[in-house]
Amino acid sequence: METEPTEGFKIEYARTDRSTCRMCNQKIPLDTVRLAALVRAPNSSRLIEKWYHTDCSFETVLLQGIRDGIILDVDDIQGVKTLAKEHQEVVLSWVNASISLVNELDLQESDASSTSTHDSESDSEMSIDSS
Ligand SMILES: [Zn+2]
Repeated sequence: METEPTEGFKIEYARTDRSTCRMCNQKIPLDTVRLAALVRAPNSSRLIEKWYHTDCSFETVLLQGIRDGIILDVDDIQGVKTLAKEHQEVVLSWVNASISLVNELDLQESDASSTSTHDSESDSEMSIDSS
């Protein structure tokens, strides 16, 4: 089981074609954008890079990183600035979408655990549906 806490994230163009995605176990081709979860090595202060395809990581490890508060915006991913503009924009749009998604989920969770403050407003919300 992989239970080590993730300490950060890093993104770059694959420098070799020998890394393997931890999500799908397929090789990551040379020069494609790959994302690493930086994990503390057991009994060491060293950080291990666990590589993922961007497609495999965006809705999984990176989303978890946002939920854990490791990523507050795109600049919290190391190496973003080294990517080509078009790739930076893809990462940026994904991070922003994920942050909104996480905020939405958190909102739903906090609603479920503390509904008492919103009880008086529930009647007025029913009139919004006009379509
Ligand atoms: Zn993959």
